Parts: sequence; C-alpha cells; structure tokens
Amino acid sequence: MTIQWFPGHMTRARRQIQDKLKLIDVAIELLDARLPLSSRNPMIDEILLNKPRLIVLNKSDLADPAVTKEWMDYFKKEGHAVLMADATTGHGVKDISVKARELLKEKIDRQIAKGIRPRPVRALIVGIPNVGKSTLINKLAGRSIALTGDRPGVTKGQQWIKVGTDMELLDTPGILWPKFEDQNVGYRLAVTGAIKEEILNVEDIAFFAIQYLSRYYWPKLQERFDLQEKPLDPEDPDQVVAVMEAIGRKRGCIVSGGKVDLAKASGMMLRELRAGKLGGFSMESPY
Ligand code: GDP
Repeated sequence: MTIQWFPGHMTRARRQIQDKLKLIDVAIELLDARLPLSSRNPMIDEILLNKPRLIVLNKSDLADPAVTKEWMDYFKKEGHAVLMADATTGHGVKDISVKARELLKEKIDRQIAKGIRPRPVRALIVGIPNVGKSTLINKLAGRSIALTGDRPGVTKGQQWIKVGTDMELLDTPGILWPKFEDQNVGYRLAVTGAIKEEILNVEDIAFFAIQYLSRYYWPKLQERFDLQEKPLDPEDPDQVVAVMEAIGRKRGCIVSGGKVDLAKASGMMLRELRAGKLGGFSMESPY
C-alpha cells in the first residue's frame, strides 16, 4: 500500500494521532530496524509531545544484528526506551507490555501508594506505512484485528484490545508520513519495500541497492548471485550496471538478442533482498 501524502493528509494524520494521545499512557513508535532514521517521521517529537514513548525496532529478523545492536545503543543514549522485535514471528513482542509498564513505573507506584489499583497501561502504535503496525497489533492481540491497508482519513469505531492483563491497545494505529526531503531516504525506503516501485524507478532502486550492498555487504551479494570475488567500485556506474547484468544473466532475465532485461533483473534482485534471501542487512547505521 502506498499513500500519497499531501500537506492536508499530514495535518489530518497529525490531528488524529493527537486526539488519540489524550486516551493513552504510552506511545509505541514503530521503526524499521534496517533503517530506523529513514523510517522515522520527521516531526515525531512534536507530534508525541511529552507522552511516554517506547521505540520498537521491528523487522529485526531482516536486519543486520550487529547494526541493530548499535541502533539499540544509539536510542538508549538518546534517552529512549527501546526494544527490537519481529512482529511476524512474535519474537520480542511479549517484552512490549513489560517495558511499557516500566516506563510508567513512577505513576503506577504512586497509584499503589494511594491505594488505587492500577488499570492496564493504554497504548497506541504509531509509524509510517508498511513498518508492521497491523502485524504487531494482531500479534499483541493474539488474533486478526487491524485491517492491513488502514488509511488516514478513514475512521472507524476505535476499540481497546486487551494484551494480557497489563496492557490495552487502540486497534487503529497512528499512521505517519516518512521523510521526503532527502532523496536517499526515499531510495532506502524503496529498497526495503516501504515505497512502491511505481513511485521510484525499479532499476534506479536496484542500482542504489547494489551500490550500497557492494560497500557494506559484498560477500552476501557475491554469494547469492555468484558474482566475482572482488567488490566492485560503487562510484563507477558502469561497474554497478555490469553487476546488475550479471545478476540478470544468473536469473535468466534475457530478452531477444541475448540482452539482459534490467527491469526484470532489478525486480528479482530486490524481491530476494526484501525476503531476506541474502541474509540480514541494514540500510543505515548510527556511527
Ligand atoms: P503497516 O502498514 O505498518 O500496518 O504494516 P503491515 O503490518 O501491513 O506490514 C507490512 C509488511 O511487512 C507485511 O508484508 C508484513 O508481513 C511485513 N512485516 C511486518 N512486520 C514484520 C517483521 O517483523 N518481519 C518481517 N520479516 N516482516 C514483517
């Protein structure tokens, strides 16, 4: 699903989240572990204001574990509570309510001291499209609830979903827009599949991916597609295209005259990459 974000959408999305903030104790900010900054809304601090926040680095199964660890440290240093998760298998998901309660510990302790029995922590998941909000809601709920494809502006009755005995979650997540101003952010998002190929050209996305992978993950690319041992020079466009062609030949993307169908080869390469066939990779690192 791709949302075309216009200023009006952004204002509405922001207002919708701010309305929901009144109902909750904690916001769960979902980021893609492979590109936590590029998958982050640029105005998130202004939108969430001072609401307690838990950052969850999702899709950690697809990311480079060493880089994810660096991101965990980075966000902790920034003063955030942070967890990593895989919403499809549920790995790390059960820690979310525990961590959310920890964040609210002082408030809960005060209530207990006054003899008030604490109610379940109320939470809202927020994040850009495709980051895994619906998948996580379903996992936390233990059943299928949120419609994948929820759109900003489409309202339906909100409900609280019970997550164990300690947490309640709003069933409609807060949908936020990604950063637009930086073209590389767009390409990183496109490589991971967060932006559809109708918006950016598939060959350009693959070109960007190969340039990046050749810098940081050449052995994975080399092994998957039987490429030459020596990494290419990512600054040389001819070498990048030669690798795209080699991948195309390997995958049988040949058109009449023996030429490689670069668009088809690009699509295949990106699908394998996104499905984790090359192993975990991260598209940006904090240091
Ligand atoms: P939403 O737009 O934020 O609600 O995102 P979805 O929940 O619809 O997820 C987008 C895609 O990412 C779907 O194909 C999910 O199966 C996939 N996905 C979500 N979370 C994970 C995860 O932790 N790991 C992997 N491998 N895929 C995930």
